[in-house]
Amino acid sequence: MSLPTITQRATPVPRHDEPLTQASLCSLCPKLCRPTCPVAAATGREAVAPWRISDAVVRGTSSGWSLPLAEQVASCTGCGACGEPCLPGTNLAEESRAARAAAAAAGAVLPAGLAIRDRVATTGSPRRGTRPGRDDAGATTVLFAGCPADPSAALALFEAAGEPVRCAADEACCGAVAFDLGLVPEAAALAARAAAQLGDAERVIVATPSCARMMREEWPLLGVVGPPVVTAVEWLASALPRLSFVPDPAPVAWHAPCTLARGLGVVDEPLRVLAALGREVREPLATGRTTRCSGAGAAYPMVDANGAEAVAAVRRAELATLAAPVVTACASAAKALGATDLLALAASRLAR
Ligand code: SF4
Ligand code: SF4
Repeated sequence: MSLPTITQRATPVPRHDEPLTQASLCSLCPKLCRPTCPVAAATGREAVAPWRISDAVVRGTSSGWSLPLAEQVASCTGCGACGEPCLPGTNLAEESRAARAAAAAAGAVLPAGLAIRDRVATTGSPRRGTRPGRDDAGATTVLFAGCPADPSAALALFEAAGEPVRCAADEACCGAVAFDLGLVPEAAALAARAAAQLGDAERVIVATPSCARMMREEWPLLGVVGPPVVTAVEWLASALPRLSFVPDPAPVAWHAPCTLARGLGVVDEPLRVLAALGREVREPLATGRTTRCSGAGAAYPMVDANGAEAVAAVRRAELATLAAPVVTACASAAKALGATDLLALAASRLAR
């Protein structure tokens, strides 16, 4: 068991029954989280520091929501870094999402939320276009790629592992983007449709960490029931004995995605995959459960593209010191960092 220190909790910050009420904790605490927030640090804006987001939540809840308040509470990537030193146990990622929902319900819908709401109303989904699909006979496993990801690499890995799988070319959206923008009714409807498409699958393998988080943590709270959720990296690590790769000892710089590592606790599996590929793995000081954000989480790039790019630039500079190509396991983080996705790397090294 790890011991809590002044900078790290022994266990992740918990969820709260009333997510908005935790905002009042911030006014009374010594704010040890202040140096941890990547958004406040990269943008230089104190207004988006965790305690100021909580202050905005208190004001919105007590005096009514406005668009500036909605934008302030949505200036959070959901990275969870502020939870590490937070002795009172505030879950800013949860609080920010709940505040976005409260603001949207009161009519203060973020501009990105209006765009997504329009697209869902006209096309039925936030996603544009279709991707490759597969429907192997007898498959009880569904591969869910998620909006930012292409399933091709994962499908190649399933084929090489000899494992039957279903993957819908017209994959329904899990609702994560709508949920992150405060559109709870739309998110619930999208989640219900995605769950119906998963049907009687025994498990769903999810390539995008934010979709896995949505299914695992938010679907139950929305009353949506789906099969057990396994991240694609966990599946790949478990399938390694059935796969053979052409080894490549070249170094890689590993970026642990916040949602995967800190949020879902998947830390060792990607490193096992990289070891199976023969790669020399270089990690920055901020890695694993204490990783640093790429700026791509919780729809933050849709809320503040400049702020998201500023966060990504800090992380890119940190990773550049490792002098190796960056690999990660999240399509959104890969895009922000100019990195290669781990599934694509593994598929490219399959022994034919
Ligand atoms: S997030 Fe936690 S550590 Fe930071 S101000 Fe709020 S209660 Fe204090
Ligand atoms: S979850 Fe991350 S981005 Fe959001 S307030 Fe906390 S440290 Fe900042």
